[in-house]
Amino acid sequence: MDPDAPSPATDTAPVVVSGIQPSGRLHLGNFFGALRQHLDLHTRHEAYYFIVNYHAMTSVQDAGQLRQHTFDVALDYLALGFDPDEAALFVQSDVPAVTELTWIFFNLLPTSRLEKGVAYKEKVNAGLTPNAGLFNYPVLQAADILAYGGSHVPVGADQKQNLEIARDLARSFNQTYCSAEDPLFPVPEPHILDDVAVVPGIDGQKMSKSYGNTIGIFDEGEALKEKVMSIVTDSKPLDAPKDPESCNVFALIKLFADEEKTQQIAHQYREGGYGYGHAKQELLGLIEDYFAEARARRKELEQRSDYVRDVLRDGAQQAQEKVEPIMERVRELTGLVRTR
Ligand code: ADP
Repeated sequence: MDPDAPSPATDTAPVVVSGIQPSGRLHLGNFFGALRQHLDLHTRHEAYYFIVNYHAMTSVQDAGQLRQHTFDVALDYLALGFDPDEAALFVQSDVPAVTELTWIFFNLLPTSRLEKGVAYKEKVNAGLTPNAGLFNYPVLQAADILAYGGSHVPVGADQKQNLEIARDLARSFNQTYCSAEDPLFPVPEPHILDDVAVVPGIDGQKMSKSYGNTIGIFDEGEALKEKVMSIVTDSKPLDAPKDPESCNVFALIKLFADEEKTQQIAHQYREGGYGYGHAKQELLGLIEDYFAEARARRKELEQRSDYVRDVLRDGAQQAQEKVEPIMERVRELTGLVRTR
């Protein structure tokens, strides 16, 4: 849905919200599925982007690592062009009311909805511990969105089902606690770029920090080369014609190359005489060029940790100010007495 249109639920200006896990270095899937949209939208709308450290705890249980990844994500955003004068970038746990809202939402959702969770099943199949945090993840995610009155959520296609839960919870809360004329929560709309769908990792599954199959946005040199060269392909010999549409390397090339270049490479695939090694070299060059500026900016920012901390603190302040009146209404509507 177009975030330039007003939210149908509230007829008010859109509030763009989205989160990203600090569970490892950000990767191409995060960039093309989410970050690119975040950066595009944040100068045009009221926007809140949070580094979801509570979510990351479902897989990262080392305090030093969680801290490091949290600051790394902030650095990545700033290096890629996030402007803190335009929108709020902050750490999820700096706004504790979100976990309060999560508990309230638990009571409005049948467990069967979570049992059907595809993302949960996929993560468990990939070897993550099936802890209760992982299971209940979509409810915390719904609270993240709705606590800020989020109406538009730019995310990757893998998040569609989780977004359905947030939409159901918004409706369910409104029906249970509000009058029909005065709903509290907008029903949030996912904002998914159709041309991206799910970015494959080097093993061909969805690229994800949790699966150890990523190519990092800021990978460079030998580390980057090694990853690109290890992308899984079939074993067709160099001379054989190849199908670009079923190739993981081509799926990544398409994200970086313009239309003309994409068509030219697709043609070379079909012709034969063009090996997967050639395609990987092409991809490597594209990645290096595409992120060259951001890479330089990130190196500068690494020397300015006080600045990064200030950005996060100011973002948390803005977020807190947004959440409090909404949470006051939630407490009032649900009968949660506050005596101080
Ligand atoms: P990860 O699975 O790597 O931990 P997150 O859960 O932090 O990623 O997701 C952050 C954002 O990046 C979400 O909006 C998600 O939809 C998007 N995203 C993550 N992986 C991919 C992918 N492989 N393809 C497209 N979008 C993705």
